[in-house]
Amino acid sequence: SERLLGGFRRTSERLGENLAGLTGKSRLDDDDLDRIEEALITADLGPAMAERIRDRLAARRDAVAGGIEELRKIVADEIAAVLRPVAEPLDIDAFPRPQVILVIGVNGSGKTTTIAKLAHLFQEQDYGVMLVAGDTFRAAAIGQLKVWAERLGVPIMAGPEGGDSAGIVFDAVKQATATGIDVLIVDTAGRLQNKRELMDELAKIKRVLGRLNPAAPHDVVLVLDATTGQNALSQIDVFREVAGVTGLVMTKLDGTARGGVLVSAAERHGLPIHAIGIGETIDDLRPFDADEIAGIIAG
Ligand code: GDP
Repeated sequence: SERLLGGFRRTSERLGENLAGLTGKSRLDDDDLDRIEEALITADLGPAMAERIRDRLAARRDAVAGGIEELRKIVADEIAAVLRPVAEPLDIDAFPRPQVILVIGVNGSGKTTTIAKLAHLFQEQDYGVMLVAGDTFRAAAIGQLKVWAERLGVPIMAGPEGGDSAGIVFDAVKQATATGIDVLIVDTAGRLQNKRELMDELAKIKRVLGRLNPAAPHDVVLVLDATTGQNALSQIDVFREVAGVTGLVMTKLDGTARGGVLVSAAERHGLPIHAIGIGETIDDLRPFDADEIAGIIAG
């Protein structure tokens, strides 16, 4: 879609200009390869990926004679090979119910919006959904989640501002179990400024969940804002350390995002990418399609 293209424009334009400059050549030389590699790094694809694509092109120096399309295809194939294994939607298959999805990420990343989008997606798949306002530090976060719950017509468990989030999660799981809810989506605090405290809080939630169901939380989904570029990458490192992460959702790929960072993330971590956000409404969550994204990046 046009909107999705926007999120990768900075990545693909940079590469596109470089490739276009090679028109009419019959063979790539080392300078050409250097420039392409640099463009790929500048486009947030990461040094490892850039080097891999360089190697692929170095092995096919004559491909440029077939036109720029031929080069684009080589680049797209290499990117898709990295993205395909991580394209993995969330699967609501855990028994006994409910499946518990912990949603983590820094404030402003799009966590609350993503929770609402996921709730909507699961509703459409005929699952019973319940939300939990586990970010008790921000009254606004509780309020915002309540508004979404009402709009979607899904139950929500919320406590007062400053309440004990682990206790609220505990109550929510009990109620969800009693009422036959399929999937419980838990919002959490995103104050990365206080890493120790956040780590303790998430650990406590996990302990409480584990007591009710040893397999819970079944998913720990990290929400990342694509417009933050390399910053998103370091957030993966921190949250893996703080909370353990089982999968990613990348948001704001509709804006002036630096979508290339998604490829670096896949290359470096190999974590499943469950979905991508391309807007602020409930329908703006898309499955992560490796070939589509690879094609867009390669221009
Ligand atoms: P939270 O603090 O992490 O819970 O973030 P919110 O869910 O409140 O989102 C922060 C802002 O980003 C809000 O204005 C959202 O509407 C917006 N937002 C969230 N996801 C997307 C997205 O995929 N695209 C765009 N353009 N905006 C988004």
